[in-house]
Amino acid sequence: MSTLRFQALKEASNRKPVHFEEIDRKSSLFGSNVFNEKAMKQYLTSDAFKGVRDAIQHGTKIDRKLADYIAMGMKEWALAKGVTHYTHWFQPLTGTTAEKHDAFFETSYDGSDPVEKFGGAQLVQQEPDASSFPNGGIRNTFEARGYTAWDPTSPAFIYGTTLCIPTVFIAYTGEALDNKIPLLRALSAIDEAATEVCRYFDKNVKKVTATLGWEQEYFLIDKALANSRPDLMMTGRTLLGHTSAKGQQLDDHYFGSIPTRALTYMRDLEQECMLLGIPVKTRHNEVAPNQFELAPIFEETNLAVDHNSLLMDVMQRVAERHDFKVLFHEKPFKGVNGSGKHNNWSLATDTGVNLLSPSKTPMSNLQFLTFFINTIKAVNDNETLLRASIATASNDHRLGANEAPPAIMSVFIGAQLTKVLSELESVTTGKLSPEEKTDLKLNVVGKIPDVLLDNTDRNRTSPFAFTGNKWEFRAVGSNSNCSNAMTTLNAIVAKQLIDFKNEVENLIENKDMKKDDAIFNVLREYIKQSKKILFEGDGYSEAWEKEAAKRGLSNFKTTPEAIKAKVSKQALDLFEQLGIFNHVEAEARYEIELEEYTKKIQIEGRVLGDISRNHVIPTAIRYQNTLIENVKGLKEIFGKEFETLAREQIVLIKEISGHIEGINSKVLAMTNERKKANQLTDAQKMAEAYCNKVKPYFDEIRNHCDKLELLVDDESWTLTKYRELLFMK
Ligand code: ADP
Ligand code: MG
Repeated sequence: MSTLRFQALKEASNRKPVHFEEIDRKSSLFGSNVFNEKAMKQYLTSDAFKGVRDAIQHGTKIDRKLADYIAMGMKEWALAKGVTHYTHWFQPLTGTTAEKHDAFFETSYDGSDPVEKFGGAQLVQQEPDASSFPNGGIRNTFEARGYTAWDPTSPAFIYGTTLCIPTVFIAYTGEALDNKIPLLRALSAIDEAATEVCRYFDKNVKKVTATLGWEQEYFLIDKALANSRPDLMMTGRTLLGHTSAKGQQLDDHYFGSIPTRALTYMRDLEQECMLLGIPVKTRHNEVAPNQFELAPIFEETNLAVDHNSLLMDVMQRVAERHDFKVLFHEKPFKGVNGSGKHNNWSLATDTGVNLLSPSKTPMSNLQFLTFFINTIKAVNDNETLLRASIATASNDHRLGANEAPPAIMSVFIGAQLTKVLSELESVTTGKLSPEEKTDLKLNVVGKIPDVLLDNTDRNRTSPFAFTGNKWEFRAVGSNSNCSNAMTTLNAIVAKQLIDFKNEVENLIENKDMKKDDAIFNVLREYIKQSKKILFEGDGYSEAWEKEAAKRGLSNFKTTPEAIKAKVSKQALDLFEQLGIFNHVEAEARYEIELEEYTKKIQIEGRVLGDISRNHVIPTAIRYQNTLIENVKGLKEIFGKEFETLAREQIVLIKEISGHIEGINSKVLAMTNERKKANQLTDAQKMAEAYCNKVKPYFDEIRNHCDKLELLVDDESWTLTKYRELLFMK
């Protein structure tokens, strides 16, 4: 009966690792499909090259004439590599990446003069069919169309036979319609604010770059098995399925060697990454069975975000060749660990200094402490906004589920730095005596590098942790585009650094303080004001939930609650002040996120309704019929004695009927709630209804289905089981 499942199992168990042409020295491939400095030097005139470099380094504009020259060189480079098409590659507000391919090939109107053409106009600006991308009402309101515009700070690359040009997506009225524009704006805000603060310590600093190193977690499931589960295909997660007897208790996956098929896939993937200039570095098993992680060397944030988006796409395409399906969902399986995307973040100067790395001299350590404490203050003051930046329907399953960071934002800094902060907290108010300053420099600020070395206490339960020379934002979802989190983090720190500078200047000008005294004074106050966000204990514990509530920290468990912070007055002002979003853009994005949430839950509800009625109930009835036949047969042969002989079967028959009734009535009730929710016109209310009225039925329906999975004969169960999805290698 259950052919799809058994066909898939047969297919999956016969698989062999797929051969691919592996090149030994991966470094020789690095960036060979990227229009990087090396390629530009070869294919561009020196003026054109200088133009691109200035645009990258100083944000200068590239005029049309120059764009023509650049396009010409880019085309020659691409044609030499067998490229036929080009596309403006961008990151719309939903989905990962978008592209529309155009051929270089052109002819005259009468079909004569066939030629490959690509000019400045095509490089710089395109108009995709934007009507299908979400815009939160922006285009309707303004009747504006959108266009894509070249982002020279992220190099063009070749994928397959297509030249991909990273672009932003923008409305003709100027509003951002994508993930990249706000990110670029936030990165420029932090550059400006951090550079200003750096100049207290080193006048040579002209630019500060935010760096990002993401760690991508994912599940790798055999393609046939994944395809046999309609819920996985439609929603990215299993909506039902009984936990397998063996899960991750033994930790044998985490510590084991990478299975051969998976390893072959990873090597192929890494080779593709090398060609694309994605500097992948580590690969390993993760906690759950068939779960893995991949991490690169960190890069400038805009490039790192592009690389992560590109990677997610490449991962899926390479998986196709290896008969795998990659699951990026934060929680594809109930009862086993979900996936995240830790965002490691730091700030680097153009003089080569990592601002979040303690060093040997007291002066540069005061600089370190300045950036360190300002980040803590920024998170303290904007914890709800940071929480909002990582809120999605799928990440809701993970946050607060005792495996990932809780939905409560807090900052972990380790015992040693906690001690440093408490010493700084008792710095004298006003001017410091020379003795105090010397003591601080020698014994507190000067000692940081030593103390950090033995700071091995790495609390894995914290959503935002200091890990020696960078911050690690661990609550980002595996399926998310990093830009949301990175835009927010860089924005709140930029705002904080601007405030810091103002306060220090005020003390210098109005209180006649020296620079050092002013900095110590402001930092001392920040430490006092940021107490509530610092937490070193177990983030998974119930005690912390209670404690956090006492401290007044937010604990939003669902997306509709969490993202309200994005349109709070504080957030709107902050984004506007920094030029990241105007109010229209911020409100539009909020609407889009609500709609996306609603759609996700709506689809899950429909799929669950379908599967439970079309797969589970018919299967249960078939099995129940077998039992009924059995009971009838027993009665026929044994007469009255059948009552004893068929007792268990009759119990089972009744139990099955109970669960069938349960499924039917709950699906009906859920459908009614969906209908009611669909009547609502306010996006916030609709999302809330889906969250609080529709979603609660999922677990109830699932419960009945999973019970039936345990009762029904394994041979006739149509849906591929957890043990098969998770343990087939
Ligand atoms: P794990 O969290 O698995 O223990 P690490 O803490 O060593 O691993 O994190 C490694 C990640 O941190 C890598 O992606 C690396 O590129 C990134 N990283 C290291 N230094 C920086 C930095 N200065 N800025 C941003 N990311 C960084
Ligand atoms: Mg990590």
